[in-house]
Amino acid sequence: MWQTRGLPVDAIVPANEKPTRATAICPRRLRKAARLIADRMGPGQYAVRGDSGKVYYVDLSQEIPCMCPDSEFNAGLTCKHRLRAMMGEGDVRILQALGDMMLRDQQHLRDYTRATRHLRRAAQRS
Ligand SMILES: [Zn+2]
Repeated sequence: MWQTRGLPVDAIVPANEKPTRATAICPRRLRKAARLIADRMGPGQYAVRGDSGKVYYVDLSQEIPCMCPDSEFNAGLTCKHRLRAMMGEGDVRILQALGDMMLRDQQHLRDYTRATRHLRRAAQRS
């Protein structure tokens, strides 16, 4: 089992925890976050370079950790810059969400491979 600071993960992320707007992890943002470049400036502080090349400064200790347009217009949601900073800090929830995403991707790839194999065989028969 994964541990963080001596605590079992279950103690931090109860399986029955229902995500709220503040705690939900958007898969689309998480996928983007994984590709962002982040320089660690201090504990919980990152300079995150966005897709446009623009740099956003994230401070996880602040009430509003990122000042990007996504944060502004979708107040309360966790933007990709913040997710990237949390990733950098080894946040267990983010790492688990990334792992889940990878497993889902693998399953999709398997399903796709199986489907195309089936189609190829069907085409050979006809
Ligand atoms: Zn942001």
